[in-house]
Amino acid sequence: MTRLIFLGPPGAGKGTQAQVLSTLHKVPHISTGDILRSAVDQQTDLGKQAQSYMQQGELVPDELIRMLVKERLTQSDTQEGWILDGFPRNVTQAIFLEDFLATVDQHCDIVINVEVPANVLVERLLNRGRQDDSRDVVEHRLEVYREQTEPLIDFYRDRRKLASINGNQDMAAVTEDLERLLTEAVR
Ligand code: AMP
Repeated sequence: MTRLIFLGPPGAGKGTQAQVLSTLHKVPHISTGDILRSAVDQQTDLGKQAQSYMQQGELVPDELIRMLVKERLTQSDTQEGWILDGFPRNVTQAIFLEDFLATVDQHCDIVINVEVPANVLVERLLNRGRQDDSRDVVEHRLEVYREQTEPLIDFYRDRRKLASINGNQDMAAVTEDLERLLTEAVR
């Protein structure tokens, strides 16, 4: 059983690692960003409401995210574990998650903070070429991360859930570090 949260700035490689671990541990990779992007592509109600926030690099309102996460975490494939990537993004969302998990009698095993120096992040994001990856938006997303998401490091450290890894190494080395941490966490 693997239940893990990826924390870390945009461009840290959370999505890539979450995908690899999802395959290795046979648990769904839940990326709120991917779910939102697909909603925008399909122009669902959620997509229409989320679109302008995403284009500007702002967080989508908590209320929308709450509905999305609740729906996803009650689907049957998530009962044996999950990897969250891009959620929670602020303290309100983290408290919501904690309360929600308690009601379904689940708990998160570990929160992994992927550390990458700021200058490397900007380079990576600009090279990725996603629609919300223009320089202004990238810089704004990093600012939003520092203001709203970074406080979660202390939040989870206080709860003794936090582990950090160096995300500034090649992909395989990051995966190796992650696997080591996970083995220790579930022991
Ligand atoms: P990501 O793919 O995780 O970088 O997310 C892309 C964009 O989707 C973010 O810049 C936000 O606008 C939005 N988003 C993704 N996850 C969340 C979340 N948990 N809370 C609020 N907005 C989110």
